[in-house]
Amino acid sequence: MSPNLSKDCDCILCSQPAQFVPGTDPIPFDCPRCGRFKITFDCMANLGSCEKQWPALSAATRESSERGKWLTISLGNYEALADEHRWTSVQQKSLKILEWIRTRSSSFKHEVPLDPATDYPLFDAFSQGECEALMQHLSENSFISHADDIASMGWYLTMEGWEAVEPLSPSGIPGRCFVAMAFDKELDDAYYEAIKPAVIEAGYEPICMKERLTNDNICDVILAEIRRAQFIVADFTKQKGGVYFEAGFAKALGKEVFWTCRQDDFAALHFDTNHYGHLKWSDPADLKGQLGARIVAELGVGPSAKSRP
Ligand SMILES: [Zn+2]
Repeated sequence: MSPNLSKDCDCILCSQPAQFVPGTDPIPFDCPRCGRFKITFDCMANLGSCEKQWPALSAATRESSERGKWLTISLGNYEALADEHRWTSVQQKSLKILEWIRTRSSSFKHEVPLDPATDYPLFDAFSQGECEALMQHLSENSFISHADDIASMGWYLTMEGWEAVEPLSPSGIPGRCFVAMAFDKELDDAYYEAIKPAVIEAGYEPICMKERLTNDNICDVILAEIRRAQFIVADFTKQKGGVYFEAGFAKALGKEVFWTCRQDDFAALHFDTNHYGHLKWSDPADLKGQLGARIVAELGVGPSAKSRP
C-alpha cells in the first residue's frame, strides 16, 4: 500500500520541494523529479559524502518509480544503484530521450510532454542544463521537434527520429542488448546478479521483459525490441519455447546471439541449437564472469564503458 505522504520538505536527493512521511525508517519520499522512493536513516546521514552520486540515484529512483516500484536506497545498495546510471554515455542519454518520446507516441507527430526541469533523471542526465543541451542537439539535428506552443512542453519525433529508434537495418541500435530468458522467479538471480551487471559492465544496456511493465501486446514489444537490439543474450535454462523463438528471430536478422544455459539443464538443450557453443554456468557469479568476458571478447567494450574515467 502507498504510504500517506503528508509533510512538505525538500527532496533528499535533488533539493526540490517534495513530500515525505516523517518518523519512519526507511522514509518514503515523493518528488516530481526523483519519483517515489524510500531511503534508510543511516543512508540519509551519509549522503553528504557522496554528492557526485545524487543525480545517478535520482535516475535510479525515477526509473523504478515510472515502473510503479518504490526503490529503497540503503547504505548497502546506493553505490551499485548509482553505478547503473552514472556512466551512461552521451549517445545513450540521447537515445533515452528519443525512446521516451517513442514509447509515449500513439502516432507520427504525436506531442509528448517532456519538461527538462523535472524529467532529466529519466535520461540519466546530470542536470536540467545537460538535458536541455541534449534536446537542443537532437532538435538541431532534426531528430525531435516541438509543438508550436513551446509552453506546452510537447515534443515529437521527426521521421529521422523514428528511423533512429526503429532502424530498418539488421545492425540495430548500438549499445542495446535484448535478454531472452524464462520468466521464472528461480532465475531472477541469474538476471539481476549475472546477466544484467555483466552487460552493463561491458558497456551495453540490457533490455529484459522481466523489468518492463507494458500495456502493449507483449509479443509485438519483444519482436520490436529484438529488432532494435545490437545483440542478444539468450539463456536456455528451463528450455522455454519463447527463448528458442527469440534467439532464432535474432539470428535470422543477422544479430550476434550469446547462448547460455545452467549446467544442470545443459543436456536438455535442443539438438538444433546445441552446436552454437553455449556458455555452461553453475551459479550467477560464474555466469556473470563468463558472459562479461565473452561479450567483450566478441564485440569489444560498449558505448557506456567508453565514457567511464
Ligand atoms: Zn528529488
